Amino acid sequence: MYYNSTRNSSLKLSSAEAIVKGISDDGGLFLPNEIPSVTLAELKTLGDLPYSKRAEHIFKKFLTDFSAEEIEMCTSKAYAPENWDTDTVTKTVTVGNAEILELWHGKTCAFKDMALQVLPYLLVTSAKKTNITKDIVILVATSGDTGKAALEGFKDVKGTKIIVFYPEDGVSPMQKKQMVTQAGENVLVCAVKGNFDDCQNGVKEIFGSSDFDYLLADYNAQLSSANSINWGRLLPQIVYYISAYAELLKENKIAENEKINIVVPTGNFGNILAAYYAKEMGLPVNKLICASNKNKILTDFLNTGVYDRNREFFTTISPSMDSLISSNLERLLYLLSDENCIKYWFEQLKTMGKYQVPEDVSAKLKESFFGGYCDDTQTVKTIEKIFGEYHYLCDTHTAVAVNVYEEYVAQTGDKTKTIIASTANPCKFSNAVLGAVGGDTSLNEYAQLDELKKICGIEIPPQLNELKSKEPIYTDTITKEEMKEYVLKYIKGNNI
Ligand SMILES: *Cc1c(COP(=O)(O)O)cnc(C)c1O
Repeated sequence: MYYNSTRNSSLKLSSAEAIVKGISDDGGLFLPNEIPSVTLAELKTLGDLPYSKRAEHIFKKFLTDFSAEEIEMCTSKAYAPENWDTDTVTKTVTVGNAEILELWHGKTCAFKDMALQVLPYLLVTSAKKTNITKDIVILVATSGDTGKAALEGFKDVKGTKIIVFYPEDGVSPMQKKQMVTQAGENVLVCAVKGNFDDCQNGVKEIFGSSDFDYLLADYNAQLSSANSINWGRLLPQIVYYISAYAELLKENKIAENEKINIVVPTGNFGNILAAYYAKEMGLPVNKLICASNKNKILTDFLNTGVYDRNREFFTTISPSMDSLISSNLERLLYLLSDENCIKYWFEQLKTMGKYQVPEDVSAKLKESFFGGYCDDTQTVKTIEKIFGEYHYLCDTHTAVAVNVYEEYVAQTGDKTKTIIASTANPCKFSNAVLGAVGGDTSLNEYAQLDELKKICGIEIPPQLNELKSKEPIYTDTITKEEMKEYVLKYIKGNNI
């Protein structure tokens, strides 16, 4: 197996090379040239293994240039019980007809930990395998959760530096506090005037400027990415869908080969793309349900075949899904078409802010995906309703998924067993969640956590409570145009 780019199918990189580079020089994303399979027999075997071994098994199929020892090192360290607040790493809770797959039992209380705990090991191992001796500078654009999870994963990892950019007013107070109080010798956190897409574009521009790599080389450094454009982020996300299926099978909640639906609250399209990969590997999946908030560019795309970025950007109570740039859609479209189409569509996106895929591609998309969305009012109502009916408290992002799933069932009458990806601990978005269950939202965010505990009987993660007594370390705010200079200044001043 080798890795090529969505904009150049003749490239042949090893997985280690693809992971270190993060993004291809042609602006495309790396992906494996074939999709390996997973069989029913394997799914049965995986059900009896701990999470780290399930990950090891799936990783071996994609990282064919890694030795068995290297993979085992990465997965056993990342998915060691001490990094998670549950022995099983993920947790599944039955709510009505659906199984809620909680992916937020890691250090930062959001699903990003699932991939960002293992990415530093993959990256450092990849650098070693490809004889890279330069220091690796990780640039991150975040809508809140990736930033903190990447900081936790990369802090004090030798040979790496990490710089996180977040939108000044686009993250929750808890998310911001988590980031600006981050300890670690090799980290830097900075606010950007603008929204998440401004941060993403700024980082992309730095990656795309050819002079920058030369400049960095003078300081024995090179760039890489911890955003979901990096294959090393995608791969770990495939594992939990397969793992969840194996678990349901083991508990006799589904029959052998029984198909399931998977619902994913979506922003950059990374998480749901991982579910698509699991499906293409042979996991029995009926529909992938793509749930968006008021920034419903993907709902419109799945329904019409037109991807149109010329629209208003909304700031919502599910901020980690506030994006009009669904980066990973490029990988899906490549799988359904070819590099020439990709180059054409993404050129159109650049110049006109929109593109349209032909009917046959649109039909293929509709075969696998259902797209729906809900606004903030419906999100709040869903939290209230699910808590009222099942005494289950979900965060705002998960609530969007639950709402869209209910709409899907109402429209189709589909009774297929369904997994809903739950992407954050409700405590991370305390204001909206507390409001939904009738609590006093005039309190500060820590008092809100106490209220949530009182009203809903949930445990408050100690790492969130502890933020109360921490002072911010990082207070810089810059414009998008200043990002490049900021990175360079930091690297010049901090020869690692
Ligand atoms: C990142 C994030 C999402 C969106 O995931 P994508 O992979 O970008 O589609 C949804 N919910 C939460 C809580 C997140 O942190």
